[in-house]
Amino acid sequence: EPRPAFAASVRTTSIPTPAERPKMIEVDSIHKRFGQFEVLKGVSLTAHEGSIVSLIGASGSGKSTLLRCINMLEIPNEGSVKVDGERIELSRNRLGEPVVADQKQLTRIRSRLGMVFQGFNLWPHRTVLENLIEAPVQVLRESRAEATERAEALLDRVGLAAKRHEYPSFLSGGQQQRVAIARALAVEPKVMLFDEPTSALDPELVGEVLRVIRSLAEEGRTMILVTHEMAFARDVSTHVAFLHQGRIEEEGPPQEVFLRPRSERCRQFVNAHQ
Ligand code: ADP
Ligand code: MG
Repeated sequence: EPRPAFAASVRTTSIPTPAERPKMIEVDSIHKRFGQFEVLKGVSLTAHEGSIVSLIGASGSGKSTLLRCINMLEIPNEGSVKVDGERIELSRNRLGEPVVADQKQLTRIRSRLGMVFQGFNLWPHRTVLENLIEAPVQVLRESRAEATERAEALLDRVGLAAKRHEYPSFLSGGQQQRVAIARALAVEPKVMLFDEPTSALDPELVGEVLRVIRSLAEEGRTMILVTHEMAFARDVSTHVAFLHQGRIEEEGPPQEVFLRPRSERCRQFVNAHQ
């Protein structure tokens, strides 16, 4: 049987599909509407500890909204989100709109999530090091000394120890995004959420950011990753979900979703993007 050219890059060994491991993220039947427009139409998604879940799909299919619902940057109209087994409490205001019921709980749960966006979102008037110690000191009430020590280790890890006293604008986009990843890691999150972390980068800077993400994958970190880098998704994911118009149209191991998609739409999408 002929093998597709990229079969060698599909991971078949090392990390097993961690379906027996604890559920770190459980999204259950969420619906999200903006006005009359329903962006998410009943989406459920689980990320077990150590799994790397990639979300793929056309622009506008709801990938960012789904990711933002996980940390309640968008509040779902219906359905629930559990992080590390704890359900985020929601209630309704007098207009019937969904609201977070317990801000303290949300703050606590958010500190278990590290989020990296497309734009680098670093604080421009703070040095790289200050960007990294802000949340540990302000949110986790760590001492400056402790936070600084860990920040330096994280910068070393993303290859930017020498830039610790620079301001973000003196860094390339790739370096800024590596700082953003280090900053997200600084609160020692249980799950990392990435929303197209490389799509604002010049092509020559994509590789250095993907290498950092790959190293996180290799150490077994739980992550949910929205990406247009199909080869990367195929290579690092333990699970892939294809969104189409606010629904998960197909999901499964990367070998299946990329090589043997069952849905015609998914087949067209992956064929057009690899
Ligand atoms: P993706 O990340 O897959 O490109 P998004 O989740 O960003 O998709 O958006 C899905 C749809 O929801 C798009 O049609 C977008 O225009 C719409 N949308 C996203 N955010 C908002 C918002 N805050 N208000 C109104 N519409 C929105
Ligand atoms: Mg998006």
